[in-house]
Amino acid sequence: KLSKRLEAVASFVPTGAIVADIGSDHAYLPCYLIHKGIVNKAIAGEVVKGPFESAVKQVKLEGLEESITVRLADGLEAIKETDGVNTVTIAGMGGPLIVSILEKKPELLQTVTRLILQPNIHAKVIREWALANGWAILDEVILKEDEKIYEILVLQRGDMELSEQEILLGKHLMANKSDVFVEKWTKEIQNWRRVLSSIEQAEETSDIVAKRKELLHLIE
Ligand code: SAM
Repeated sequence: KLSKRLEAVASFVPTGAIVADIGSDHAYLPCYLIHKGIVNKAIAGEVVKGPFESAVKQVKLEGLEESITVRLADGLEAIKETDGVNTVTIAGMGGPLIVSILEKKPELLQTVTRLILQPNIHAKVIREWALANGWAILDEVILKEDEKIYEILVLQRGDMELSEQEILLGKHLMANKSDVFVEKWTKEIQNWRRVLSSIEQAEETSDIVAKRKELLHLIE
């Protein structure tokens, strides 16, 4: 059974899409997509030998070698022009790592019309990247599994406007204000308050003053 997190990622893959799952590890997501009949063809990319071998093994175990190609490659280099990939999923990494993968070989996204990204932390940097690179956020989800909170961002090509607040919190997530969303940001505010009080007594260097200002701004 697929995790609730990856199931949510899968729910945004359009029927009949050609998918590349970058950083696929065991290739659970592509295997699920094929089994469910959501897609007929997928690429699983892995840069590390161990997870790459796990992916190959899993695909073989499930008898899906015809539909899933597993490639040992760095980021988007797993995508070949002839694959016709139109949907890319990148899940289970930090936002900055996801962005670095997207920025390293942007030309390999030429045929791609949808990105489904699941940062474990720092979703903000993905929203900033999207804003600066002609992608618009179609939908966002926040969910909790095994006491961890995850966000999923669904991007399509287009322009959007986002306020500073929407870049941090997510426009769709702000609108929904789910219990998990409230929990996440309540905890964040507590953290910021804790850091702020820990530097209350610190010497007033320009760094400390700037940090205090930043924290107060975030809390507000
Ligand atoms: N996507 C799966 C999931 O969400 O459950 C696996 C997540 S796992 C924590 C992250 C995987 O990304 C690791 O297997 C790691 O080797 C892989 N990875 C990290 N950087 C990568 C890169 N530049 N290209 C391809 N894979 C990468």
